[in-house]
Amino acid sequence: MKQKCPRCLLTNVAAARFCARCGLSLTPGEAGQLQAGRIRHPRPQSPPDGFAPCLEAEHLFFRWGPPSGDTFLLGTEGIAVSLFNGAYPLQKAMVLVRGRDESGFVRFSVSLGVEALPAGRVVRVDVPSYELPDEVARPVAALEVALVSAEFRPSE
Ligand SMILES: [Zn+2]
Repeated sequence: MKQKCPRCLLTNVAAARFCARCGLSLTPGEAGQLQAGRIRHPRPQSPPDGFAPCLEAEHLFFRWGPPSGDTFLLGTEGIAVSLFNGAYPLQKAMVLVRGRDESGFVRFSVSLGVEALPAGRVVRVDVPSYELPDEVARPVAALEVALVSAEFRPSE
């Protein structure tokens, strides 16, 4: 069975590990799919300190915190989410951000669009305060970020 490159659409021989035209790895990631954001890179870049892996993605990491400064101003602020892409450049990404409280209950769940996720750079998106639960006296204790979809971005 031949395999079609998901980035440039060239049909490659079945045994090919990389696309003959654009060089994309044809090895699926943990999600088992040859889709943008879910393909293993042969030499991924490591994320900066403090970044954790995103779900349903390969080499995509996140970190979160208050939009400004080091502490949350209760009830008035959103949440800043920084994304680091250590592999192929992506664009038009959609991520699902889910916040849990100390007991593990989901307090909010919101989809965010990200215009571009260049390789090796940190891109920040914000969860606006109106998406968060009113009572933030016990703020979100843990965040998870999952890649919903993305497109390949032409290499810079
Ligand atoms: Zn290709």
